[in-house]
Amino acid sequence: MWLNVRNNISNSNLNQLSARFVLALLGLLLLAIGCSSTTDGARKPATALPSEAGTSAAISRSSPLPDSRIAPTINSLRAMGYVKEIVAFGPRPIGSKNHQRLEEYILAHLKGDDVEEDRFVADTPAGKLPVRNIIAKYPGTKDGVILIAGHYDTNYPLRDTGYVGANDGGSSTAILLEFANQLRGKKRDGYSVWLVFADGEEAVKSWTDTDSVYGMRHLAERWQKDGTLKKIKALLLADMIGDQDLDILRDQNSTAWLEDLVFQAATKLGYQSHFFEKTAPMEDDHIPFVKLGVPSADLIDFEYGYGNVFWHTPQDTVDKLSPKSLQIVGDVILQTVWLLDAR
Ligand SMILES: [Zn+2]
Repeated sequence: MWLNVRNNISNSNLNQLSARFVLALLGLLLLAIGCSSTTDGARKPATALPSEAGTSAAISRSSPLPDSRIAPTINSLRAMGYVKEIVAFGPRPIGSKNHQRLEEYILAHLKGDDVEEDRFVADTPAGKLPVRNIIAKYPGTKDGVILIAGHYDTNYPLRDTGYVGANDGGSSTAILLEFANQLRGKKRDGYSVWLVFADGEEAVKSWTDTDSVYGMRHLAERWQKDGTLKKIKALLLADMIGDQDLDILRDQNSTAWLEDLVFQAATKLGYQSHFFEKTAPMEDDHIPFVKLGVPSADLIDFEYGYGNVFWHTPQDTVDKLSPKSLQIVGDVILQTVWLLDAR
């Protein structure tokens, strides 16, 4: 992925913060006025407050939300286990032996599932290289498809540096494998969900429109030609989602209403503080689908270590990741799917 305006991570937070502070003050003031202006004089004793608070909390917990259907939660320790196994293959750039081993590993985990492949040879600055998208399909009762995608290839220029891409490539592959566990063998009362193990996300030389997102460009074109694209209701993309200091940014190239829905899902699960503190335009695997009109949301943490220092360096290793982060993003994605089902 690439940030197309490098220093554009906006810090309007200060303004937001002061606005929130003023609102909070105003709220307190109104509360104070409300308390002091009780006309019946029946101010309740302070001792009644805790039980009152307890009751209202119990009521709000048990009262159904507008959409009370709760999505499953992922097994993040199992997902973390996948990251470790994937990283153990070593560097996994397109065209490499390790990449082939990972292809077999993914397919072995999807055994028995409905799997489609999109294989082709890409023209790259390093010559012709094989690219292989793997799509696992889980049918639903509702007409339409939700795509959840993530790339499994690792950085090409760093292929001889020992770079293993634990977060960048590893985390996205692992979360998709765990989603497959959650979706497999269950009746979906909603849209069909297709998991896209995208290949060739990374630039072979340096990031341009033609040297990046090889797999997803090919898939978007192919599905536009054969009519599949019309069935796709939304694309949820996960990239670099394992950082223990999780801070998913709000991507300006994604679809606003879908980003709002992701935030709604995060809020519903109490995870909103890990989402959308910062805003930036991301170039990533979703772009070919965005260009063709598919509502898309790129969930990416592009602050991997202070100032993104671990991104595209041999320091992108498992010790920087946390199962909790996989849990947060995994659960929010599934919750978003469930919210989409209900729309
Ligand atoms: Zn990368």
